[in-house]
Amino acid sequence: MNSPTYHRKGFGLKDQVEDELKSAYDSGLISDLKTQGGKLVSGRFTILLAQAFGFCWGVDRAVSMAYETRKFFPDKKIWITNEIIHNPLVNSHLKEMQIEFLPVEADGRKNFELISPGEVVIIPAFGASVGEIEDLSSKGCEIVDTTCPWVSRVWVRIMKYADGKYTALIHGKYNHEETIATASRAKKYLIVQNLDEAKWVCDYVLNGGAKEEFLGKFQNACSQGFDPDTDLISIGIANQTTMLKGETEEIGKLFERTMLSKYGPQKLDSHFLSPGDTICDATQERQDAMLQLIEEKLDLMIIIGGFNSSNTGHLREIAESKNIPAFQIDDPSCLISKNKIRYLAHQNQVIEEERDWLPHGEITIGVTAGASTPNQVVEEVIEKLKGWS
Ligand code: SF4
Repeated sequence: MNSPTYHRKGFGLKDQVEDELKSAYDSGLISDLKTQGGKLVSGRFTILLAQAFGFCWGVDRAVSMAYETRKFFPDKKIWITNEIIHNPLVNSHLKEMQIEFLPVEADGRKNFELISPGEVVIIPAFGASVGEIEDLSSKGCEIVDTTCPWVSRVWVRIMKYADGKYTALIHGKYNHEETIATASRAKKYLIVQNLDEAKWVCDYVLNGGAKEEFLGKFQNACSQGFDPDTDLISIGIANQTTMLKGETEEIGKLFERTMLSKYGPQKLDSHFLSPGDTICDATQERQDAMLQLIEEKLDLMIIIGGFNSSNTGHLREIAESKNIPAFQIDDPSCLISKNKIRYLAHQNQVIEEERDWLPHGEITIGVTAGASTPNQVVEEVIEKLKGWS
């Protein structure tokens, strides 16, 4: 990481890419709406924008670094190891700039063989695993690491757990890039996706159970050679930065109670460590704004963000928790017509189309967007809605 071919801070070209970024992603309409309290009345629609939504600081930084990279290496081949962020518009702009996405093999591995020494490789905002960084370094590539500092903050915690011989208990999605990168920094880890899985593990810790069943259930979500009978004696809590804040807190408290009950208060510190909250500020702000928005009388919610975006999915879950019809779309083209919408269905996580999705009469529509959605995309969605009002 101290190598001259490892770039973690951009290239000092922010001024040169600023105008390009503004014209690609900013929106006059959204800026105006924000200063007017986020409310827009158009015909029979009242559109209410969440108080916080869209591009976060970490995404802004990663995208800006990618644009700077193209400027700094105008003639070099540039790769990116994954979507820089989960947004189709941003990723298509990068492709137009001849930044190539590394193909992924059927087994999920990235094909590093395509990269030649001296070529440039951008690491996305959610980071890369230790193994990937090592592979790239040994190839002699120029590495531009846009990993969000919020993510690396969790990594520091994970490495401390490893030094202290604590197993990292990670609240996250085992196949999400950020969690894969985080887990790769742990010596031992177990990933739980939700409170149900956490309860299951806590029950095992307290009452024991069938080891084979445990290992079958978490076969993709634990470190190699994991033994639930010996590797859950001392645990440290960590999380994917974009999980649902309330759930992360509950999981932390559940494990704390479990270890307290098993080992008693005197020995708790040697069996349980928690960093407090490592949900990032931006995720928290967007979730808080969503909780505030659903207090309004909404007829439906539109949540804009990549279908594989974790933080966007959690915003949708907040709306659904209040039984508000919620449509997660990744692009304005999902609003096919006033009679038809394409969206990510929560129950089965598949993209579906629904007819007659817009209620009749005067309605209030809530709108928000995940941390990787540019304002320009939000503007296009609002313009489309206005056209049908
Ligand atoms: S959502 Fe949070 S962790 Fe992810 S890039 Fe944005 S600021 Fe960083």
